[in-house]
Amino acid sequence: EALDRIQALEPKLHSFLHVTAQQALEQARAVDAKIAAGEEIGLLAGIPIGIKDNLCTKGIPTTCASRILENFVPPYESTVTQKLLDAGAVTVGKTNLDEFAMGGSTENSAYQVTGNPWDLSRVPGGSSGGSAAAVAAQECVVSIGSDTGGSIRQPASFCGVVGIKPTYGLVSRYGLVAFASSLDQIGPFGRTVEDVAILLSAIAGYDPKDSTSLKVKIPDYAATLKPDFKARGKLRIGIIKETFGEGLDSVVEQAVTKAIDQLQSLGAEIHIISCPNFRYGVPSYYIIAPSEASANLARYDGVKYGYRAPGADNLLSMYNRTRAEGFGPEVKRRIMIGTYALSAGYYDAYYLKAQKVRTLIKQDFERAFKKVDVLACPTVPTTAFKAGEKNTDPLSMYLLDLMTIPVNLAGLPGISVPCGFDNNGLPIGLQLIGKVLREDQLLQVAYTYE
Ligand code: GLN
Repeated sequence: EALDRIQALEPKLHSFLHVTAQQALEQARAVDAKIAAGEEIGLLAGIPIGIKDNLCTKGIPTTCASRILENFVPPYESTVTQKLLDAGAVTVGKTNLDEFAMGGSTENSAYQVTGNPWDLSRVPGGSSGGSAAAVAAQECVVSIGSDTGGSIRQPASFCGVVGIKPTYGLVSRYGLVAFASSLDQIGPFGRTVEDVAILLSAIAGYDPKDSTSLKVKIPDYAATLKPDFKARGKLRIGIIKETFGEGLDSVVEQAVTKAIDQLQSLGAEIHIISCPNFRYGVPSYYIIAPSEASANLARYDGVKYGYRAPGADNLLSMYNRTRAEGFGPEVKRRIMIGTYALSAGYYDAYYLKAQKVRTLIKQDFERAFKKVDVLACPTVPTTAFKAGEKNTDPLSMYLLDLMTIPVNLAGLPGISVPCGFDNNGLPIGLQLIGKVLREDQLLQVAYTYE
């Protein structure tokens, strides 16, 4: 059914870069055979799932939506996709993204523009736009994305689905193509909080192949979801004051306020919380993330992976031409910003300063979490915009990440849940931010809306 749906919708939606129909059918048959033989089946047995095309999948192209990895077929499997396969999931294909996950609309893909299933003339958000659109359009039941500054939560908000960015270190990054390693996390998308909870339990856990992986016991998140919110005792919810200012669409404000009021009527205590350094999140992120990216992307030199420009007559011109032809404009912009910020003489003024701001943002959260259990704010200040509307102005695109970026800078878990629609019928997302490793609490509060 998922494959039929993909076939019917893809000519208009373009959420997949590669559909792995053959493999999916084999995986599904293997599940059937296990059932017939009376063998035990995995947690995700037979569930059709889409994978963002920046996770390495053995024998299946992994392009990061970049020309530079056009013909790259990984010789190994990422930890997350291996866990999915072990749990019996049926992987239907690799989803579209902004090139190397840099962007917020999926328009930076070198291959195709994905539509928003609610209005095809609009963007699905990004960078995991393909994964969010595929779930919203029911081309698969759940999907996997990655979030460096909002790339799961923002497209979840734009497409009216649930998406969670876990605590940094909860999910292994082994086999995730690195963008900004101190911020990148893999996480699930689903149409319900319960689906997301099940998928998170399946992909989380310690992995010796990722040096930042946390050695913690992974709860059965779905089992901890209780329909009766009141039974969970008094929860203290903090509204982040600074996110309700200038630039916030009034319809988004109304929907988010209403959603928070609903929690209050269910017995939650509501507090107004100030995070004064929140507004420095975007400027510090756009130093730190490009700096890390400039180092991570140095490996694409035409020697080891993917594309090599033809016709070069020496090593240096081969490097130069490969990178000039292989990378798109946004990726080049980030490499240049990052290289500049890290260069001798500017390091202290930009990179070091951005790291200090990162600490201040973290401290804002630490103070807030002394008073409350969960923080609430809009996921994005607006709903989905028209394709082409912002891609000539990178700064206006960067500002969309205002409310999601601080969460990555502090390494905290954050979830986006649908909380209403604007006047054009486009979905609005509520963002809930939790304490380190309190995904259980976050999912529980989000579950209230189901
Ligand atoms: N929109 C942000 C950026 O372009 C976030 C991307 C992400 O989380 N991968 O960097």
